[in-house]
Amino acid sequence: MKQTLNWQIASVTNIRPETVKVKSFTLKLPAWMRHRAGQHYDIRLTAEDGYQAQRSYSIASEPEREGEVDLTVERINDGEVSMYMHDVLLPGDRIEARGPIGGYFVWEATMTGPLLLIAGGSGVVPLMSMIRHRAAAGGRNPTTLLYSSRTFEDIIYYNELEQLRKTNSGLQIFHTLTRSQPAGWKGYARRIDQDMLKDVAGPLGKSVQAYICGPTLLVEAAANTLVKIGVKSDQIRTERFGPTGG
Ligand SMILES: Cc1cc2nc3c(=O)[nH]c(=O)nc-3n(C[C@H](O)[C@H](O)[C@H](O)COP(=O)(O)OP(=O)(O)OC[C@H]3O[C@@H](n4cnc5c(N)ncnc54)[C@H](O)[C@@H]3O)c2cc1C
Repeated sequence: MKQTLNWQIASVTNIRPETVKVKSFTLKLPAWMRHRAGQHYDIRLTAEDGYQAQRSYSIASEPEREGEVDLTVERINDGEVSMYMHDVLLPGDRIEARGPIGGYFVWEATMTGPLLLIAGGSGVVPLMSMIRHRAAAGGRNPTTLLYSSRTFEDIIYYNELEQLRKTNSGLQIFHTLTRSQPAGWKGYARRIDQDMLKDVAGPLGKSVQAYICGPTLLVEAAANTLVKIGVKSDQIRTERFGPTGG
C-alpha cells in the first residue's frame, strides 16, 4: 500500500531518561493515525538558514495509545538529530514529524504464532512496541526477547520488561551483556552466537516468526545464525539502525 503522509507539527509533551544515553520523547500528534507495532516516524529539523536534517525513529509505544507516540532515542556523539533531541528539545517544544511509516517490519497481535525478538542496543525500540502491543491486546502467544546490551546500565526499559515478564503469560526475556556484567549476573555475557540462539529459539519450534533489530553487524550475524539452526529466511524480518557494530 502506498503511503502518502504529510509532515505535521508534533508537540513534545514529555521527555524522560531511560539510560544515561537514551531518552524517551512523547509526541502529541494533531493528525495521529493508529500505527502497527514496528513502524517508525521521520523527524525533520530545519535551521534558520533553511538547512534540513531528517532521521527515522521507531515508535516505542503501543498502537492502543491514542493521539500520541513515544520515540526512544539514543544520543550519538556528534549526531546531528539525536544530539538536538537530547540537548536542546524541551517539553512544550514543537517538532516536525511524519508517519507512521513501514509495512514490512511489523507485528500484530492477530499473528498468534510463536514470536522471537532479537535486539541490539536501541534496536529494542520497535520490539518494545510489539511487546507493549501484545500486553495491551492480551496476547498469549509464546514470545521471547533476546536483548544484547554493552553493560547493565545500558539496558533500555529494564524494569518495565521485568514487570511485563512477570505479568504476561508466555513472555520470556533473555539479556546478554557484551562488555561488562554486574556481580552475580545470571544472564548471558557474550555476543549473540549459535548456542545462545539454539537455547532461546529452540523452545519456540519450527513455525517461529523472528524480528531482529539493531546495528547492521548484529542484525546480519543473528539472521545468518538463525538460518544455520534451521529457521527459514522468510520467517525472519530485519531492521538496521546504524552503521556501527557496537
Ligand atoms: C527505520 C529506522 C528506525 C530507527 N529507529 C531508531 C530509534 O528508535 N532510536 C534511535 O536512537 N535510533 C533509531 N534509528 C537511527 C536514527 O535514524 C539515526 O540514524 C540516529 O539517531 C543517528 O542520527 P544523528 O543525526 O544523531 O547522527 P548522524 O549525524 O547521522 O551521524 C553522526 C555519526 O554517528 C554515526 N551513526 C549514525 N547512526 C548511528 C547509530 N545508530 N549508531 C551508531 N553510530 C551512528 C554516523 O556514521 C556518523 O559518524 C533508526 C533508523 C532507521 C533507519
